[in-house]
Amino acid sequence: METGILSIDSMFPIGRGQRELIIGDRQTGKTSIATDTILNQKGKGVICIYVAIGQKASSVAKIVNTLEKYDAMDYSIVLSSTASEPASLQYIAPYAGTALAEYFMHQGKDVLIVYDDLSKHAVAYRAISLLLERSPGREAYPGDVFYLHSRLLERGCQHLCGGSVTILPIVETRGGDITGYIPTNIISITDGQIVLSKKNFDKGQKPAIHYGLSVSRLGGAVQTADMKKLGAVVRRELLTYLETREVYEMANMDEMSKEMRARLMRGARIVEGLTQYKYQAISSENCIQKFKAIMEGDYEHS
Ligand code: ATP
Ligand code: MG
Repeated sequence: METGILSIDSMFPIGRGQRELIIGDRQTGKTSIATDTILNQKGKGVICIYVAIGQKASSVAKIVNTLEKYDAMDYSIVLSSTASEPASLQYIAPYAGTALAEYFMHQGKDVLIVYDDLSKHAVAYRAISLLLERSPGREAYPGDVFYLHSRLLERGCQHLCGGSVTILPIVETRGGDITGYIPTNIISITDGQIVLSKKNFDKGQKPAIHYGLSVSRLGGAVQTADMKKLGAVVRRELLTYLETREVYEMANMDEMSKEMRARLMRGARIVEGLTQYKYQAISSENCIQKFKAIMEGDYEHS
């Protein structure tokens, strides 16, 4: 499943039938990653379903607008239960979306489904449970809130008939804390997570991915051989660079060894090369070329 986003396709690849969580604070570009992925499926025979849970009707309208503008509505379905609708509807929306996805999967088609977002889904379920006088547990969620999400996310799969359901659930965090009750539950169910950080977003890094905390548990198994090799090298260089950057930022460049200086410059080049604004999908061939240029040092950011 190609997202068209350079950093995700190279370092945290998503396979068909996988569940990859997108997690981050509010306004960090979570929805943008999902919509970019939907736009990138054009002409690839993938049916996309976007489920909006507990959002403002205006945000949903904006997304539909974007999808229409880029001719993505031909292969997309938008299912919406806005914040003004009853909790029961918000609760049932992702299951309804998944039933649609399974219908297409049984016809041998590949389906991508986005739940935006599951934190609001958990809140709707909590409201219903409290009304039903179920005993509240941690953070007043009922005891079966883990079951609520696992029975939903375990429906993502590759079917024997050739179809698949890939799920991109979105979860909102507070203050960058991914160790909350609902986030940790969902992290443990999914096959990986893309963590978005507010700090990176404010610094202007787009997409604002936190490279240290993000993982894809399938890794290279879903990549082409070239991409796998390059992705591993880039990831290693990038992580070392990010770790040493803070220490060396204050140091005097002239006093540094030549080797060290070259390595720091290459790190900075990688970070710059991974910058990608929305609606600018990159194909995997271009991706490989770009990386080769970055690693060999003749890459210039335009
Ligand atoms: P919310 O918590 O409100 O749902 P969100 O995390 O889904 O927010 P988005 O709505 O996707 O975040 O993005 C927030 C803002 O950042 C938007 O105005 C969007 O245009 C901008 N943005 C996100 N990603 C990018 C990007 N790669 N390039 C340029 N702008 C971006
Ligand atoms: Mg959003």
